[in-house]
Amino acid sequence: MPSQAAESEETMNLEEYKGVFVFAQQVDNEISSIAFELIGKGKSLAGDLGTEVTAVLVGSDVKGLADELAVYGADKVIVVDDPELKEYRTEPYAHALASVIEKYKPEIFLVGATAIGRDLAPRVSARIHTGLTADCTKLDIGDFPLEPKPNVEQKHNQLLMTRPAFGGNTIATIACPDFRPQMATVRPGVMQKLPRVEGAKAVVEEFNPGFTPNNKYVEILEIVKSVVDTVDIMDAKILVSGGRGVGSPENFKLLEDLAEAVGGTVSCSRAVVDAGWKPKDLQVGQTGKTVRPNVYFAIGISGAIQHLAGMEESDIIIAINKDESAPIFDVADYGIVGDLNKIVPMLTEKIKAETAAK
Ligand SMILES: Cc1cc2nc3c(=O)[nH]c(=O)nc-3n(C[C@H](O)[C@H](O)[C@H](O)COP(=O)(O)OP(=O)(O)OC[C@H]3O[C@@H](n4cnc5c(N)ncnc54)[C@H](O)[C@@H]3O)c2cc1C
Repeated sequence: MPSQAAESEETMNLEEYKGVFVFAQQVDNEISSIAFELIGKGKSLAGDLGTEVTAVLVGSDVKGLADELAVYGADKVIVVDDPELKEYRTEPYAHALASVIEKYKPEIFLVGATAIGRDLAPRVSARIHTGLTADCTKLDIGDFPLEPKPNVEQKHNQLLMTRPAFGGNTIATIACPDFRPQMATVRPGVMQKLPRVEGAKAVVEEFNPGFTPNNKYVEILEIVKSVVDTVDIMDAKILVSGGRGVGSPENFKLLEDLAEAVGGTVSCSRAVVDAGWKPKDLQVGQTGKTVRPNVYFAIGISGAIQHLAGMEESDIIIAINKDESAPIFDVADYGIVGDLNKIVPMLTEKIKAETAAK
């Protein structure tokens, strides 16, 4: 008896699958920034394949949001609008996406690695019997295997999905040559949105596969939103980031003073979170947030690969570290070797004096 995988491969005609689709996540009828980032990346992939980007908008009373997706580059929007989709619930949303994929047969399907996307994407990929690469940091179109191998067919125009592997100690490039769509999740902040094109209108297509509540349609009794009083470090233009070298939670006052002087926000490395000095939502890196500010101060941070993964795309990186061989200096635009306890207050005073003089 052939295996289930072999059967599906036999029946799956890969040629039928066309186009790059992205899941346009919305919460409370507000489109999440990740949707625009995925459209941005989807556009460049679609360009390489000579195809279009379609955003899949799922919710209740969401049709009015379609043009906003076009403003960020979506060529087409498929709207699945149903009262059952008002709040995110795994079963109806997975049914919506799996049905869209079965009907429209996309070649590539991208989902944000948000709390919703991480719940949704694996279920959808299992339902439609394809692979999923989670938390990709890079997506390209290319040949697979990357180098030709004897007796192995090298397929062209494959989605090459790159992500850290083995605890961040290596980088793996993964492909899904035998099944469609090729599915990947990407964390917020990794890909870039395209500039807005005001007035752009989407070609909208409505599709409703029918939603019949079953015992997997959980009932939501109450939604309690967490109250966040800190600025999201992913939105900050200037980040003053501290590492273990800061020495204590109290000593972060030095960084807070600098942040105040430059109009920035404090963030940190994982060592600081693990020590309980700062909350997890301020952590930059592979298991924290990916940031891309105009200026990133790395103070008392060694520059481990998992930290760099979250900040190396910053426009200007300024490192302060007493160890001149710290790897952070390899990515820094400006480096100051010395004791942060002396340098940071001096820098803060100098900036305050300059600002006052203006
Ligand atoms: C699976 C996995 C995921 C991970 N994810 C993340 C992540 O998301 N984010 C993250 O940050 N890390 C992550 N890590 C941890 C990472 O490997 C490092 O352990 C961590 O980034 C180190 O933090 P640090 O640079 O603050 O501390 P350290 O590596 O201890 O560096 C402290 C630095 O401070 C300098 N210093 C000390 N005193 C002073 C002083 N007085 N003046 C100036 N400089 C001084 C030292 O020279 C040193 O370079 C992850 C690890 C794993 C295995």
